[in-house]
Amino acid sequence: MAEVIKCTRCEKKLPALEKAPFGGALGKKIHEQICQVCWKQWVASQNQLINHYGLSTINPEHQQFLIQNMESFLFGKGLQNQIDASLEGTIQH
Ligand SMILES: [Zn+2]
Repeated sequence: MAEVIKCTRCEKKLPALEKAPFGGALGKKIHEQICQVCWKQWVASQNQLINHYGLSTINPEHQQFLIQNMESFLFGKGLQNQIDASLEGTIQH
């Protein structure tokens, strides 16, 4: 059973993820503070970013870009659109 938490992003009491989605401090923070609904919204947004920019999840630069957007999406003010636009020219397709 997933634990019910007060989600940092949507501020509703909803089930947390069953386990941290990945290792490290950020994965732990997401497990403790982000509900399943918000996580699913991020996964959908991540897929859009991957398709839009032609990202590779095994490329470290692309991973960094996705992590920055994930942090902003879950804990900040949505996707970093202005940063997206400036990165668009630097990411190798
Ligand atoms: Zn939430």
